[in-house]
Amino acid sequence: MTDRTSGDQRPAVIEQPYQYRRRILAEPDWSRFPGWRDVTSEEWASAQWQRAHCVKNVKQLRSLMGDRLADGFYDDLDRDMRERATMSMLLPPQMLNTMVPEAEETAPGSWTEAFYADPIRRYMLPVASDRLAEWPSHPFATRDSLHEHDMWAVEGLTHRYPTKVLAELLSTCPQYCGHCTRMDLVGNSTPTVDKRRMALKPVDRQTAILDYLREHPGVRDVVVSGGDVANMPWKQLERFLDALLEIETIRDIRLATKALMGLPQHWLQDEIVDGMGRVAKRAAEQGVNLAIHTHVNHVNSVTPAVARAAAAMLEAGVRDVRNQGVLMRGVNDSPEALLDLCFAMQGEANILPYYFYMCDMIPNSEHWRTSVARAQDLQHALMGYLPGYATPRIICDVPMVGKRWVHQLSEYDRELGISYWTKNYRTSLEADDPDALTRRYPYYDPIDTLPRAGREWWRRMDPPEEVRAAGDEAAARSREASEKQDRPTGARP
Ligand code: SF4
Repeated sequence: MTDRTSGDQRPAVIEQPYQYRRRILAEPDWSRFPGWRDVTSEEWASAQWQRAHCVKNVKQLRSLMGDRLADGFYDDLDRDMRERATMSMLLPPQMLNTMVPEAEETAPGSWTEAFYADPIRRYMLPVASDRLAEWPSHPFATRDSLHEHDMWAVEGLTHRYPTKVLAELLSTCPQYCGHCTRMDLVGNSTPTVDKRRMALKPVDRQTAILDYLREHPGVRDVVVSGGDVANMPWKQLERFLDALLEIETIRDIRLATKALMGLPQHWLQDEIVDGMGRVAKRAAEQGVNLAIHTHVNHVNSVTPAVARAAAAMLEAGVRDVRNQGVLMRGVNDSPEALLDLCFAMQGEANILPYYFYMCDMIPNSEHWRTSVARAQDLQHALMGYLPGYATPRIICDVPMVGKRWVHQLSEYDRELGISYWTKNYRTSLEADDPDALTRRYPYYDPIDTLPRAGREWWRRMDPPEEVRAAGDEAAARSREASEKQDRPTGARP
């Protein structure tokens, strides 16, 4: 099409790989689920009602869905929970309601098909047939794949980077994600994973964390996480944040909560909004950056309730609400899926698209993981559409290294799917390691994505000397760190 009135022969609309169109957010109608037919708006808006009606097992899902899903789906789900799942089932109604949002009352067969294909179902309610038959886990997958526990300075405080720490205040969340990178610690044990347990009482853990931060003025940035801080009683969380704000060397505080999306009703309660207002005021007076980091992976999750929760937090004085999503196959691994999500967050919900992490190398996650090459292609495809400050970076969290933009690797063997990375600081495990800053650290692509020669090589499992050495070293450091710490640990495979 050309604009002929001006005599200009340029097309009025240029065909682009991605075509932006504004989409107004909508809350899917929950009454399409037989079990929620009579639920009122007041009930739906109540955090207590949402928590009390979470779906935690196959029986509850059946009673919610009526005859919508075929029996085979429940068998598939049940098998996964018994044989593969690393997280137990916990789905607030708000999150479940974003699955198959368009589904009307149709034949059970079509609901089943739509449910199987649904991107949010794929990571929140995994079934056995989703997993890869030959390589459900990468041979180098581990339960604490980022060595967060190994790097605990005191219980719950991971000191991996020079100036910032991760404080895991609790090990529960209002929702459990199938791909959780903290599957070793977070949530209830499953038939296949006996979870690590924290040993200290919460108050003692918080005291130990605060003492460590007072003694280490080089740490200026604290990610307050878990689990999900939405599961911490507000008074306790406020007390901890007040104590953090008393440490004048702490300049950044980031609260991690997927519940801003999974259970926005929590963040809309008066007690929480008022409390956040007090904390934000104090942070602002002291010039401390207080932000919320949430975890949204698909555009269907961004609903008016989520936008209201983000707005409430920003009005309370939080400086930013940012998203750290996870890049997953079958969920959001296309330019359209990522850009739709980013535009919904940035344009409609005031949530800054900040990071997408590549799904980590935990057991049974291969069907979700993407190769570094795919992540690089997606990063390229995202450039130029969103405002620069809202263009997310796709990140590879390389074990023993930390977060790296996906183009930052130093070498990449695409046939074997092994990339090599370097770093410019020592983790807390490497204080005396003379090679920490010169070593190359490997990262592994999912084997099913490799060319035939690469797949055959992995079947023979004959890693080159360098790969074997790096793997052995990481395992030895991890063992050493665990032995040094006089803490109970869960069973590890
Ligand atoms: S909310 Fe975060 S910590 Fe909790 S299960 Fe999901 S990914 Fe894990």
